[in-house]
Amino acid sequence: MKKWFAVIGDPIAQSKSPEMHNAWYAEMNIDAAYIPVHVKSEDLQQVVSSFQLLGTSGWNVTIPHKETILPFLDELDPLAEKMGAVNTVVRTTEGKLKGYNTDGPGFVKSLEEAVGTEHRQAPLLLIGAGGAARGIAFALQQAGYTNITIANRTLEKAQAIVDEMGSGQAITMQQAEEELDTFKIFVQTTPAGMSTGDFALPFSLEKFPTGAIAADIVYNPLMTPFLLAAEKKGATIVNGLGMFVHQGAIAYQYWLGHEPNINGTIARLTEQLGGKNIVNR
Ligand code: NAP
Repeated sequence: MKKWFAVIGDPIAQSKSPEMHNAWYAEMNIDAAYIPVHVKSEDLQQVVSSFQLLGTSGWNVTIPHKETILPFLDELDPLAEKMGAVNTVVRTTEGKLKGYNTDGPGFVKSLEEAVGTEHRQAPLLLIGAGGAARGIAFALQQAGYTNITIANRTLEKAQAIVDEMGSGQAITMQQAEEELDTFKIFVQTTPAGMSTGDFALPFSLEKFPTGAIAADIVYNPLMTPFLLAAEKKGATIVNGLGMFVHQGAIAYQYWLGHEPNINGTIARLTEQLGGKNIVNR
């Protein structure tokens, strides 16, 4: 029987997931379809029950439902439980709904695809402490990153993640600005520079060190103000598209049991977003 998958969110029209997953099904000759579904918060529980009744094989979850979906699931993967957020739901063969979070692991895959695994002990500054940063912090820790500092406008949120990780430190944006040259890897997770909402980066990059690694998880535009400034200082640049593709590829693997062929996916999406492919240079 044809399998079907979805992504739910509000808004949802901008999502590139349907196109990416449907292209993978076509390439791999899989009889499946992936659809975007606009779900308002007040309808979430009903949509989950309807998906069950209609026999979905799984779905992705995006803003604003990543946390609020938890009570409607039967089981959580340990990483998703730690993060308190789910972006992938798998309907098991017994018909149970199991929640995973592939955002953080997707980021780590993208980072290491670009710069290898040899920087796991390097001082890393995570900028932001929102939902995405939380997932990334736990996934970095799970992958063996030992020297993580989190800077956030609201210091308590950074401190809460550090407390849960049981390691690392939380600092203010002002401290980050002053200590910028003590870090080697920078991971920018605030919406600064997104094409849809423009506030400047929360601090000055005057002290940005030369030869660092700069990753941004925003991918529209591909070159954010942060990456442009870091590039001028000779940094190795990792844009947010790799994270997006890898989080989708890991979800695909949970659903279908094999890896999709992502060769070409990043290049195709990069072209659509009007940029050069800078993920792997
Ligand atoms: P979120 O939970 O709302 O967190 C936003 C973060 O940005 C918080 O740390 C917040 O600080 C900070 N922030 C917001 N406005 C700010 C301002 N004016 N000045 C300073 N800091 C500010 O959002 P999220 O879910 O983590 O998503 C963050 C970004 O990542 C979004 O642009 C999203 O599109 C992108 N993203 C990309 C991928 C991918 O696959 N590439 C995946 C997930 C998310 P406070 O805590 O002080 O409010």
